Amino acid sequence: MSKSDGAMIEAIGLSKFYGPFAATQDVTFSVPKGQVAAFLGPNGAGKSTTMKLLTGFLAPTSGTAKIGGFDMSTDRLKAAEILGYLPENGPLYLEMTPSSILQFLGEARGMSGSRLRDRLEFVAQKCSLKGVWGKPIGKLSKGFRQRVGMAQALLHDPQILILDEPTSGLDPNQTHDVRELILSLAKTKTILLSTHILTEVKAVCNRVILINDGRIVLDGSVADLEHGGEGMDKRFRELTGSAR
Ligand code: ADP
Repeated sequence: MSKSDGAMIEAIGLSKFYGPFAATQDVTFSVPKGQVAAFLGPNGAGKSTTMKLLTGFLAPTSGTAKIGGFDMSTDRLKAAEILGYLPENGPLYLEMTPSSILQFLGEARGMSGSRLRDRLEFVAQKCSLKGVWGKPIGKLSKGFRQRVGMAQALLHDPQILILDEPTSGLDPNQTHDVRELILSLAKTKTILLSTHILTEVKAVCNRVILINDGRIVLDGSVADLEHGGEGMDKRFRELTGSAR
């Protein structure tokens, strides 16, 4: 049995250089089946880059990304079947409607007939999209665009979710709804979600991975981030270099 048995999301020495600049450097962690892990860090720390490396949207300068045991550099299509990804910038097809883009993406994933109809109904309901189902995405608010992004990530009922700032730009009601959705998904799925909102971590996660300047600086439980009862904010500032 290999050491990584049970690991659903694995970053193994992932580095991404832009010229001499390291957006991520030797990033290593793994998320076991069933865990909801928060990927925390200040803006520019390397969260989105790591998520793009894990989902195969960027090739690493060095290191390996594995999803469900599949190496992203050699088995990306197999990994894609079990992976849902919410990218940082939401859906780009602004002239399409939630209905048309999700139908298109479902067909592109090989779904059809009653299975596709059932999944479209499920994501429309879970992501509260029914009221905007036929409206162009370009006319939707940031909150609704984010929900379309969540819907495409969930459409094929993947076991593994990588969500880049799922509550960014949402108002408090929408944030609450998305957190509830993530909590309900957490019962059956493995999730890595990035955020820089510390209260979000406590609300939905049982594991914390903290990145700063492209390197992992803490990997542990929520209690580890709250170290000594000093509170998450203080510990976050200490570990990310802006403590006063
Ligand atoms: P985060 O998601 O934590 O805010 P990012 O992963 O987006 O951080 O970015 C990490 C660092 O890499 C930042 O300093 C960012 O400016 C830099 N970076 C990201 N993409 C590129 C790129 N295509 N070219 C050069 N630098 C980049």
